[in-house]
Amino acid sequence: MGRIFAAENFGNTTADAVVIGGGIVGASTAFWLSKSGMKVILLEMRDALSSLTTAASVECFRTQFTESDMAELAVESVKMFENFNQVIGYDDTHIGITQRGYLFVTDDSTMLSELESAVNRYHQLGVKDAEFIAGDKLHKRFPFLAPQALAATFNNKDGWLSTHEATYGFAKASDDAVFYTKTKAAGIIVDSKGVAAVETNKGKISTRLVVNCAGPFAAMIGRMAGLEMPLKTVKRQKCYIKVSEDIVPKNAPFMVDLVNHSYWRPEAGGVLCAWVDSDEPETPPSEELPTDWDFAAESIHRVSRLNPFFETIADKIVGSDINVSAGQYVYTPDDKPVIGPSGEIEGFHLNCGYWCGVMMSPAAGKRVADIAAGKMNNKDNPLRYSRFKEGAVQKGSTFLK
Ligand SMILES: Cc1cc2nc3c(=O)[nH]c(=O)nc-3n(C[C@H](O)[C@H](O)[C@H](O)COP(=O)(O)OP(=O)(O)OC[C@H]3O[C@@H](n4cnc5c(N)ncnc54)[C@H](O)[C@@H]3O)c2cc1C
Repeated sequence: MGRIFAAENFGNTTADAVVIGGGIVGASTAFWLSKSGMKVILLEMRDALSSLTTAASVECFRTQFTESDMAELAVESVKMFENFNQVIGYDDTHIGITQRGYLFVTDDSTMLSELESAVNRYHQLGVKDAEFIAGDKLHKRFPFLAPQALAATFNNKDGWLSTHEATYGFAKASDDAVFYTKTKAAGIIVDSKGVAAVETNKGKISTRLVVNCAGPFAAMIGRMAGLEMPLKTVKRQKCYIKVSEDIVPKNAPFMVDLVNHSYWRPEAGGVLCAWVDSDEPETPPSEELPTDWDFAAESIHRVSRLNPFFETIADKIVGSDINVSAGQYVYTPDDKPVIGPSGEIEGFHLNCGYWCGVMMSPAAGKRVADIAAGKMNNKDNPLRYSRFKEGAVQKGSTFLK
């Protein structure tokens, strides 16, 4: 069973693998490495696991991707979330999986063929439950939508869950693994054979395998090993709004307005809503991200367009009903994560570069472990880091990223 605690000074110790970063991606990676028989140490610099980007997310997962490499990882991950306790082999975890679908809606008639093609693509990629829904059928199924909504893509298998429970589930269900909080990786020692040790504020861990799961700080961890990675960090915010239950449509899905890039979903005691600003500038990795009230006002304004019940919310809310929080998306040159060996420094592996790390975490962690344990050839891994050098970089057309 994985042990989680704030590390005392441990002086010098050893591990088969050191995972840097205790968000959902790091926890899944540590879990799968431990299941392949390795002694694992995970380092988390903050007071608790799942306390930085993972805590800032809206905790959703989806299968609707147009890129085969992303769809493959997402579909496998959703299956794992659906059978989470069985997959991790630990009964006492309640990830609260809610499958009410992702609904991507447009009122722009020029987008209809794009939506239809996207659904055809989902079907080709094995996501057979995805639907194209238009006109009266759309309004019958989702009566809260504004009359001008024309069409949508939908998959009822998509949804949301508790990322905190999932992160701690991975940690608790790990075999020979220790999760040290308040322990910061400060340096990586590389010798002629590759990675040799990780230096921390609590001592040094000798190891020949390090996995970089440091979320927004992944580029900094890369530099510690001598790897300059093409990662960009961009602030993203979300608002939680306390709303009386009778205002929120019953059984609503995660709804995305494809025209103005806003979204919302029900959450206990209210709703979550936000929008993705494609002009948001890059910001350096940070644990202290300022939030702004304009973001809440702008998000409510944007979601109201196709979800008129938000006007009622806007009329009734007071400042204390709104909580805005922020985290950072990490983008690579093709907006897809990097998974597996860095290829440049022996023993230095990656599981980072995510704008969608929650939904990919179960299968991505398994892939890292399978490659490290020799069960999968990295050549068969389309999300390998060397794709950038190989020129195999293709930006996809997935909605809202
Ligand atoms: C507003 C918002 C909404 C989002 N919604 C979704 C969503 O619905 N679905 C989805 O899939 N994704 C979503 N995301 C993205 C998702 O939150 C991230 O992709 C995911 O949480 C990344 O997980 P992680 O474990 O890689 O990163 P983190 O959770 O950031 O974990 C990395 C950890 O590494 C630690 N660390 C860094 N440096 C060091 C060091 N030197 N030593 C020790 N520890 C270190 C950090 O403290 C941190 O805890 C959203 C993000 C935001 C901001």
